[in-house]
Amino acid sequence: MVRWRNGICCLRCGSGRVRGHGNYGQGLKRYFCKACGRTFNGKTGNSFHYSRLSLREWFMLILLFLALHNSILGLSWLLEWSCMPIFKAVKRLMLRLRALQPVGMDGSVESDEIYVTAGLKGRNNSHRIKRLGRKPRRRGLKRRGRGAWGRDKPAVFILVERGGGEDYVPSSDVEAETALKVIGRRVSEGSTVYTDFFKAYLGLGEAGYNHEWVNHSAGEYVRGECHVNSCEKQPSHKTSHKILK
Ligand SMILES: [Zn+2]
Repeated sequence: MVRWRNGICCLRCGSGRVRGHGNYGQGLKRYFCKACGRTFNGKTGNSFHYSRLSLREWFMLILLFLALHNSILGLSWLLEWSCMPIFKAVKRLMLRLRALQPVGMDGSVESDEIYVTAGLKGRNNSHRIKRLGRKPRRRGLKRRGRGAWGRDKPAVFILVERGGGEDYVPSSDVEAETALKVIGRRVSEGSTVYTDFFKAYLGLGEAGYNHEWVNHSAGEYVRGECHVNSCEKQPSHKTSHKILK
């Protein structure tokens, strides 16, 4: 109804000389263009193309996930689908939304990193492990220090522009070079970058940024404008909301 409010026309050549050409089930009709000799349907050329979900199911998923903040597990329970198709659909949706969002940041930007445990070893609390009805496999000896890709604990850089967008960048290591690359690609030079006191960030001043930091290990979390608290709050749906509006 939205796409063809002025009558059905070909999505490839724009011609109005089209006829019906069967349907795919789930209420999705296929059309044939007499001008260019190709077929198309209502999903051709947009984000929902080549998906088994119907548009009705897509819109329901978007509403439940973005507007009503349901988790993937919650959606699985509500819609009575298994988790995987929901995960794939949500992933596709988030990648599309991310592609719409400009990554250029400037002004005041906070940067921090978190470490995510990959895999299920040693995770008593994982519902997937609980469902298997056995104890989790052990992760071996506990290692000290920061996580790393090779140790099943990859780092994710969090960049938050104050009053603007946010970005999450998974990274294989947390070397100074990587941190500079991650920030250099997204934040324009001359911006103020707030970080914690971590040696990977020490080169930022030389790279043309106005670098300020707080020293968490010395108990300092806020010094005037300088803090990374926006990075440490729960990830929000703010950006996706903005795009939906
Ligand atoms: Zn055509």
